Amino acid sequence: MNSGELIAWHYALEEPVRLRWLDGRIIRMDSAPHFPPRTLWVAPPLVDLQVNGYAGVDFQSDDVSFDDLAAAVAGLHAAGCGRFFLTLISDEWPRMIARLRRLRELRRKSGLLIQAIAGWHIEGPFLSAEPGFRGAHPPEVMRDPTADHLKELRLAAGDERLMITVAPERLEAVAIIGQARELGIIVSLGHTNAPRKRLLQAQKAGATAFTHLGNGCPRELDRAENILWRVFETPGLKVSLIPDAIHVSPPLFRLIHRTLPDGSIFYVTDAMAAAGAAPGRYRLGRLELEVGPDEIVRLPGSGNFAGSALRPIDGVFRAAEMLRCSWREVWSRFSHVPAEVAGVSCSLALGSRADFCVLEVTEENVLDDLSLYIGGERIAAAV
Ligand SMILES: [Zn+2]
Repeated sequence: MNSGELIAWHYALEEPVRLRWLDGRIIRMDSAPHFPPRTLWVAPPLVDLQVNGYAGVDFQSDDVSFDDLAAAVAGLHAAGCGRFFLTLISDEWPRMIARLRRLRELRRKSGLLIQAIAGWHIEGPFLSAEPGFRGAHPPEVMRDPTADHLKELRLAAGDERLMITVAPERLEAVAIIGQARELGIIVSLGHTNAPRKRLLQAQKAGATAFTHLGNGCPRELDRAENILWRVFETPGLKVSLIPDAIHVSPPLFRLIHRTLPDGSIFYVTDAMAAAGAAPGRYRLGRLELEVGPDEIVRLPGSGNFAGSALRPIDGVFRAAEMLRCSWREVWSRFSHVPAEVAGVSCSLALGSRADFCVLEVTEENVLDDLSLYIGGERIAAAV
């Protein structure tokens, strides 16, 4: 097993530290014996709870191979992401369950995939079918959730981590949220136009998150009363945002950060196959999408977005740019906070696995170099 040491600035303490690992675990972190270069930093790996595809691979396809999955994981690693929730979007329920079973089989074949795919995010089909709120999800497959759906889902996922995105206005959805919690399923609200009272009921029943606020809703909203304002007034939810400066405009991004309490925002890429790949045409389940050099994922012939082409590491730097702050101030929103939502470990603590990012960043917030270590082993490097 591998061992080593690194001297770098700690991203949160802003102090130079010496990190030592043995057999893939962190055994010591103490003051550095000398000052490392001012540009060299260590931080926990990024955790992305919404990834629909990556590096040319569409997770919604029925013929994803082991090599495809490994390529997507390698792409995410190269972008600083150590762990993610593989996300399946709305389709006919039996097909979604079959995909989940198949992907689990593939994941089981490799320790690296087991480590990287920390869980499963099932985004649909229990969503709002209203135009705008349904986003790119096909309305014809939308349905109300039942206890049987949950049991089937839990059975298909075994004891692995599961998260569902649900619109709480769906019939019986509030009762189902309570049952989901009993089955250890994390519940996020999203693609919803539920009234405030229903959002509060859903939160009380056990919903802990809200999926990509500012998206999964119409481009034009009633200024006096809309889903954004209602979420702002629903305490206790961790809210995810897509920090690509496209899905949420920079002013709205800043306002959401000012409005919601500290520690209640986390970032997701909502990436589809085009992320970490060249511009072109890509599939996202039933849809064929066009991705230009601007990295905007469009449904050809419409202005609607459908997933993003964002790399996790770019999300950090774009968020920092929008908020006009250092990358270090936003890092935890793409590591500790989503890890907490998902119940995933993500720290530089003693005894934990030696997973971390090493970054070279200029004083002007420009990323020059990035490496990801998993179990103390340098497995990817890219900017
Ligand atoms: Zn969505």
